[in-house]
Amino acid sequence: MPGMFTHEFATELYKGTATVNTGLFINGQFVDPVDRESIDVCSPQDGSVITKVSIGNAKDIDIAVKAALAAFKSSWGLKTPGYERGKLLYKLAELLEKNAGTLAAIEALDVGKPFVHASQDVQEAIDTLRYYAGWADKNHGQTIETTEAKFAYTRHEPIGVVAGIIPWNFPLTISIWKAAPALATGNAIVLKPSEVTPLSALKLAELVKEAGFPDGVFNVVTGYGATAGQAITEHPLVGKVSFTGSTIVGRKVMETAAKTNLKRVTLELGGKSPILIFDDADVEQTVKRVCGSTFYNSGQGCAAGTRILVQEGIYDKFLQVFADAAESLKQGDSFKATTQQGPLVSKTQLDRVLGYIESGKQEGARIVTGGSRAEGAGYFMRPTIFADVKPDMKIVREEIFGPVGVVIKFKTEEEAIEAANDTDYGLSSYVFTENLSRAIRVSNAIEAGNCFINQAILLCAQVPFGGYKQSGYGKEMGEYALEAYTQAKAVHVNLSLKL
Ligand code: NDP
Repeated sequence: MPGMFTHEFATELYKGTATVNTGLFINGQFVDPVDRESIDVCSPQDGSVITKVSIGNAKDIDIAVKAALAAFKSSWGLKTPGYERGKLLYKLAELLEKNAGTLAAIEALDVGKPFVHASQDVQEAIDTLRYYAGWADKNHGQTIETTEAKFAYTRHEPIGVVAGIIPWNFPLTISIWKAAPALATGNAIVLKPSEVTPLSALKLAELVKEAGFPDGVFNVVTGYGATAGQAITEHPLVGKVSFTGSTIVGRKVMETAAKTNLKRVTLELGGKSPILIFDDADVEQTVKRVCGSTFYNSGQGCAAGTRILVQEGIYDKFLQVFADAAESLKQGDSFKATTQQGPLVSKTQLDRVLGYIESGKQEGARIVTGGSRAEGAGYFMRPTIFADVKPDMKIVREEIFGPVGVVIKFKTEEEAIEAANDTDYGLSSYVFTENLSRAIRVSNAIEAGNCFINQAILLCAQVPFGGYKQSGYGKEMGEYALEAYTQAKAVHVNLSLKL
């Protein structure tokens, strides 16, 4: 089977026998940053230094953007037909498949997540590449007849240079969510991974080169958000920024875009997603799915279900089974096949989550289980469940981004919907019930861009993903994302000057 993962291989990588080029990837080459600065990349498992990567700043971003623009004009964009772009994306998918073990190991090492979960991320990236490879020659415009003698047609043209600003929770997958539709539609791209988890984007750059994309079409500049990220959003030659991260930085990205060249912006800003569980749901099965939503990736997921609304008839039983399941999750070495949960990505994130735990306690919430970091050198946090919470508590309102869920009792469907929508966010939602009419009715009433019925989160390349309200706007994936990377031009044709 192509792309088989082996734990032995992962361990080899861990020992340092496999390598990742850690320069900036600009114009088809790995290069040193102008100011030759670097930063340590650390393992969340024990805080040890894995490697150093280059730190690019505004000067490097300028070089990368200009290289991308030159490539867009000379050898990409409208110069390379869609079917050729598609072929390159298919080739890249094949290379990801061939290097799936390496990529998963890099991601597990860098983010701290279990190798088996990192392998799923890689598969999702491969699926997304193939999906958009198929679209590359199918993103047609329309022909619109206006009068007998005149008609217009639309062209879906690329924007030019687009940028992707990537967070640290799913670095490879989110890089592909942005790069695949951008490249399929003929844009050149500059990626800025999080300084905390830059390695998989650099490996991806090696594979882009091997796939044969023209130089400059795909670039990676590692660096700090406040410098490299800010420089991207300010750059006058960048036509669009697709950003995934915190609401506070998302706001800044939009503000900067508005103040500079009015570049287009897509924002995916996380959430505080509700899970609504009705009396008729099977408690054991539901708890499995809830764990897969609340605690997956150690709770560092933008669509994690973190406000768990449970109908009164099953509330006590649910709480007990949920607590047992949380306590039984196996934490540990990312490369052990039995590990179900890794550490948080960094000391900063661990401290942030512990701050929320403290705030929950001070505001009077009850800790059902967890509530502290786990023993050991890594940034492990015990899965935590709060009960007896009030709607205005910080732990109920703010995105914690750790393995923390709050459980809330409700009586009626109306009450549950009202509580579910009592948030500034609107990224995802989950409904558990055997009653199909209720499931659809409730999902229609929820103010969120995604609703999962009787399942944990399951993202598919074919299905759009994005938020309502302050979870951002614009879609990733599916046909919808093509629109985010193209601009429609209307061409009016008069069949005869005499008419
Ligand atoms: P940030 O929003 O700071 O980071 C996301 C990305 O934006 C990173 O690549 C970051 O770079 C970059 N960035 C930071 N500042 C700027 C800027 N001024 N201009 C452009 N880009 C910038 O998230 P954090 O890493 O600080 O995490 C904080 C919180 O954000 C988490 O606790 C969580 O609540 C939320 N979050 C949500 C995510 C989601 O999927 N929606 C993902 C990650 C975080 P760098 O990391 O190098 O500074």
